[in-house]
Amino acid sequence: MKKEFAVIGLGRFGGSICRELSREGMQVIALDIDEQKVSEYRDIAAHTVMADSTDENVLRELGLRNIDHVIVAIGDNIQASMLTTLILKELGIKTVTVKAQNDYHEKILNRIGADHVIHPERDMGKRIAHHIISNNILDYIELSDDHSVVEVKAGRKMKNQTLIDLDIRANYGCNVVAIKRNKDVIVSPKANEKIEETDILIVIGSDKDISRFEKNLV
Ligand code: ADP
Repeated sequence: MKKEFAVIGLGRFGGSICRELSREGMQVIALDIDEQKVSEYRDIAAHTVMADSTDENVLRELGLRNIDHVIVAIGDNIQASMLTTLILKELGIKTVTVKAQNDYHEKILNRIGADHVIHPERDMGKRIAHHIISNNILDYIELSDDHSVVEVKAGRKMKNQTLIDLDIRANYGCNVVAIKRNKDVIVSPKANEKIEETDILIVIGSDKDISRFEKNLV
């Protein structure tokens, strides 16, 4: 059965989620207060609704009961975003993901029961900053406030060395959880695995340790 989603707020972020989910063949209800936004998505989403999501009756009548996941992507109107989240959780929606504008907004969203709070601009800023520091850092994913996963090109410094030679865990406190080599992925590589220059390492650790690893080996 196709999964069903609802996206509330069709600005750049919500709009892009709606397009991508629809492209992947998911059933999406796209809702916005702005008529023009709604008409833009008429041929993209399975259903479009022009409504104010802070109106409890509107959400109730939409019959969101079968929806697996609702994404609240209301931008600047923090009050509307919080009220919508609150109503969705009261209606019993299992998973509600909300885009937060700032830390204060995030704190309240967590309190009122949002299941996931995301900060796309802040997170993308961090990822790009790490890529700017070193071209060898391909991606950076935050796991918590102080732990991350990075994807790095092995490069010349690590070439032909084994994981035990580099002793990344002892020297930097990080773990290499996988190595991507061409089309293969070596999960939990052995200590005697020899690294090739074109390998991509997936490294997990605290931000402090990853930063030392990046400075010295990447
Ligand atoms: P982005 O930064 O992702 O582009 P925007 O602030 O431009 O975000 O977009 C937020 C969208 O949310 C807008 O299209 C706006 O019309 C919609 N929106 C704002 N308040 C409500 C509401 N109460 N109900 C439904 N949609 C809303």
